[in-house]
Amino acid sequence: MRFTVAQGFGAAYSPDTFLRQYGIMIKQQLARFDRLDLLSHPTPLEKLERLSTWLGRDVYVKRDDLTPLAMGGNKLRKLEYLAADALAQGADTLITAGALQSNHVRQTAALAAKLGLGCVALLENPLGTEDSNYLGNGNRLLLDLFDTKVELVENLDNADEQLQALADRLRNNGKNPYVVPIGGSNALGALGYVRAGLELAEQIKDTGLTFAAVVLASGSAGTHSGLALALSEALPDLPVIGVTVSRSDEDQRPKVQGLAERTAELLGVSLPAAFNVQLWDEYFGPRYGEPNAGTLSAVKLLASQEGLLLDPVYTGKAMAGMLDGIGRQRFDEGPLVFLHTGGAPALFAYKDFL
Ligand SMILES: *Cc1c(COP(=O)(O)O)cnc(C)c1O
Repeated sequence: MRFTVAQGFGAAYSPDTFLRQYGIMIKQQLARFDRLDLLSHPTPLEKLERLSTWLGRDVYVKRDDLTPLAMGGNKLRKLEYLAADALAQGADTLITAGALQSNHVRQTAALAAKLGLGCVALLENPLGTEDSNYLGNGNRLLLDLFDTKVELVENLDNADEQLQALADRLRNNGKNPYVVPIGGSNALGALGYVRAGLELAEQIKDTGLTFAAVVLASGSAGTHSGLALALSEALPDLPVIGVTVSRSDEDQRPKVQGLAERTAELLGVSLPAAFNVQLWDEYFGPRYGEPNAGTLSAVKLLASQEGLLLDPVYTGKAMAGMLDGIGRQRFDEGPLVFLHTGGAPALFAYKDFL
């Protein structure tokens, strides 16, 4: 009898369970990958005091909009791994793709400048607009300052092939390009958000609080996949909710799930038992890059109540989802974490919407 009890105890508190709970297995695996240290410090986890009082619910924000390079944002975390790989391969040019107002392209171009690499970007106009601010202000303006070579394309429906064709063309001209996929969202890039998830788990533990959920914008999925992978190991009871910015749940789910699987495989771990994909897809309409009334009121609310700048494409939609979720009691009790992924430079391009 005593032997059985001891066995049960041993199983529940095995070193394996202990390591999983503290995210140590993933942390050890992450250390095998080359990384440029571009952030140098954890980004802050801050309480939004006035918004919390106003809502009657404590809201914290993880400030990934404050990453150091060229007005900040989430893509720098992915680029820590992707650019390390590019340098290891002797690349002289970073190539990538996105919308005219892509924050990802802006951060990739800024990093290319900082590393002394060239940068070529394929850009699409997803709104088909002629608005001069959309075409030339905000993120697009900054690309010219970084000396980015811009090629406008009709669409990016086959972005991976379009980037490969561009890479071939550059190689024929004697260049050694490195392809950064849209949003930096392949398994190597998602490692940046695995790392961020472990960082956030430590900050959450330091508060001593039990949070109800983490909420973030889910786009090209690297941020969502990496974060959910790390948090499902380090804080298995904490829901991670991705608010989609461009797709229905049905279309976004396989992207997040598939990328999480490929990221786990790259790391050499299995997906933690607690891993699951949670998506809210009621807030992205009418389409990618076009804010709705809820998006704009979320942007205005956070600016006027907290002096915090969201953006009209990603974080405005995710925050609108979080606020609506609070109103409709979609969360368990307890404080919330909003992952601020950046994007404020796009505000200047959306003057007419605002
Ligand atoms: C790219 C981006 C996101 C979405 O991240 P993904 O990894 O593409 O899902 C969210 N917010 C901002 C501001 C972004 O630029």
